[in-house]
Amino acid sequence: MKKHLLPIIMLAIFETVAVTLWLAMDNLFYLFNFSYIGIAIALGTFLFLKKYKHARRVTQLLVGIYILIYLGLISGENMQIEGFWYYLFTGVFEAATIHYAVAKIFGALIFGRGWCGYACWTAMVLDFLPYKTSNTPRKRIEWIRYVVFVISFLFVAALFLAHVGNIEKIMFWAFIVGNILYYAVGIALAFLFKDNRAFCKYICPITVFLKPMSYFSIFRIKCDESKCISCGKCKKVCPMDVNVTDNSRKRENGTECILCFKCVKNCPTGAL
Ligand code: SF4
Ligand code: SF4
Ligand code: SF4
Repeated sequence: MKKHLLPIIMLAIFETVAVTLWLAMDNLFYLFNFSYIGIAIALGTFLFLKKYKHARRVTQLLVGIYILIYLGLISGENMQIEGFWYYLFTGVFEAATIHYAVAKIFGALIFGRGWCGYACWTAMVLDFLPYKTSNTPRKRIEWIRYVVFVISFLFVAALFLAHVGNIEKIMFWAFIVGNILYYAVGIALAFLFKDNRAFCKYICPITVFLKPMSYFSIFRIKCDESKCISCGKCKKVCPMDVNVTDNSRKRENGTECILCFKCVKNCPTGAL
């Protein structure tokens, strides 16, 4: 595949989703939503090919701010995991459910954890912090993500079982409070563990979907072993501790790769 076609291919993929959902749901919003995201991703890919240093961050900020401010705060859609449960329980196949299906469940089969590298509004802020690569050993506290996952489910289930009125309003406030909590915990952990992505590694409940799906991802960083000189630079710069020189699906932390391409950029022999 010719590299310079990549931005157009990305845009075409998102436009296909945009038009399909627009027609299937008879709702112009989906055309706007996925076209915007497609343009942001195509722009980031284009800048990456032009070797612009902050290409990934451009896409991450364009998509992250749009979801947080426009979808979350202005349109009142809870895009956090509790919003996913909420819309699932109500049987409404709306923005939050589609968002999870496209970005975090089925999309991960194609793009792996691309969501985490290019779109997440939590990581968009955490990536401004000073610890861009993790130099501390992994902590054995990954189980926390499952606890957060279950709590989010129980929280929404309890609201329905107790027949609480005006759940939509509660969901809106849950989105605001949840985000403030995520940012506070994420920033505190980043400084505590000297690792910007500590929140992603140990706390984030979305990874319960993302990790198993990205195991099968079509897009992956692969290593040409004939070119690799085992210098170890790729592992040193990786924010997610991926053993990227191992091509097997079972490579260490393989389902953590956020496709940031730092390893590729830093490989002195072009092996990745
Ligand atoms: S792991 Fe969670 S917080 Fe981190 S980038 Fe992915 S979705 Fe965002
Ligand atoms: S540095 Fe490479 S292996 Fe690590 S997360 Fe980024 S793309 Fe994936
Ligand atoms: S940076 Fe490149 S050459 Fe060095 S270990 Fe990684 S893949 Fe091999």
